[in-house]
Amino acid sequence: MTLTEKLLARAAGKASVQAGDNVWVKAHVLMTHDVCGPGTIGVFKREFGQDARVWDKNRVVIIPDHYIFTTDKRSNRNVDILREFANEQGLPYFYDVIDDPHGTWHFDASKGEQKRQYGVNYAGVCHAALPAKGHTRPGEVLFGTDSHTCMAGAFNEFATGIGNTDAGFVMGTGKLLLKVPETMHFQLEGKLQPGVMAKDLILHCIGEIGFDGATYRAMQFDGPGVASLSMDDRMTMANMAIEAGGKNGIFPFDARTAEYVDARVKLNGTESRYEPVTLDRDQKFIYELVVDLSKLEPLVACHPDPGQRKTAREMNHLKLDRAYVGSCTGGKTSDFVEFARVLRGHKVKIDTFGVPATPQIVDELQMTRWGNETIWQILTNAGVRMTENAGCAACLGGPVDTFGRINKAGVNCISTTNRNFPGRMGNKESKVFLASPATVAASAITGVVTDPREFLS
Ligand code: SF4
Repeated sequence: MTLTEKLLARAAGKASVQAGDNVWVKAHVLMTHDVCGPGTIGVFKREFGQDARVWDKNRVVIIPDHYIFTTDKRSNRNVDILREFANEQGLPYFYDVIDDPHGTWHFDASKGEQKRQYGVNYAGVCHAALPAKGHTRPGEVLFGTDSHTCMAGAFNEFATGIGNTDAGFVMGTGKLLLKVPETMHFQLEGKLQPGVMAKDLILHCIGEIGFDGATYRAMQFDGPGVASLSMDDRMTMANMAIEAGGKNGIFPFDARTAEYVDARVKLNGTESRYEPVTLDRDQKFIYELVVDLSKLEPLVACHPDPGQRKTAREMNHLKLDRAYVGSCTGGKTSDFVEFARVLRGHKVKIDTFGVPATPQIVDELQMTRWGNETIWQILTNAGVRMTENAGCAACLGGPVDTFGRINKAGVNCISTTNRNFPGRMGNKESKVFLASPATVAASAITGVVTDPREFLS
């Protein structure tokens, strides 16, 4: 069996499954956020009753992250609905924006967009917060009401996005009927060269198969090249399985996975036992691609979908108006480090916004020094507008006062985010070009799409 088949067989209590089987799968964790949480709660209460209890309060994780730092009243209200539900159910894993469990959330625009406005429990973007808070474990099944839930496949677990109706059902029962997906195999060999990042690798894979090339399929990444990829790299890749239509992305378990997971579950006091799935000799794949990492070069996914792959060099005629670094895919500490490495000693030429995925990342960037400056200072001194209000921000547009949102037509934005369908970051008449943090940094310096290797000695 493939890794995905083994995970689903185990979660279904079966010795084996094959692609196409319909199986009832037990959930280890259900995650929801401020956009889909209220709808999920509504379905749960309608179907199971106003006084119903969730199937396991230790397995429901609620992370407000999407439309948080906005004065939009309905968005603020969504956070309050989550709080009321968490109180009612006694949920231990609700990562509230505010500290007062009986308070209400309001974003105070008079304090500006860049100074932090959240309490100690706020966790930031759900997919980055889940592993950081010790909720991703090898061998498990994670359902989330968000398409990029597949990011947790980096940890050797089956993780996939589901709709509010399914999530309401999982909330009440702890299980879900799933069709076992076929598996596409991406054999990774060699090592990425300087200036080339995991984002380039996943853009390459999606470019090979197209933005619907993995529809309802598992994307399994293995081979000797995996060893050189950090957990952040693997998260970047698994995150974007959905950009090819994938049901999930999945990596094998190794010492790096164990080190990362063990440290986070210990730190947060979450469940520490887990059982990874290992690679079988005999696996049936629907597709095979060998990728030599050492041959890749910096790429850009052009408007209007993530499969429109071109090299950064080919695109160097394209004039840009804006650069954006952030999101679950491209707003991790390592992303900002690579961004800063290229940017250091330069000034940005175009409007450039930086949104760390989590408060912890804000702290790391503000505490890590390179010489006399912190990474945060290197970025702000270069002209990047950094916000401490970690979250999804303009990755998906959001309300009109969202930090970094594209509010006018005709803007060309280069971004470390994961999705570039029309209107994704705001105005439908603007264009988003997806690239690695290194490429976004080089492009922010020059104002045209630029291969970051031009700035690396
Ligand atoms: S950062 Fe973007 S892709 Fe990630 S969860 Fe938020 S909106 Fe979705």
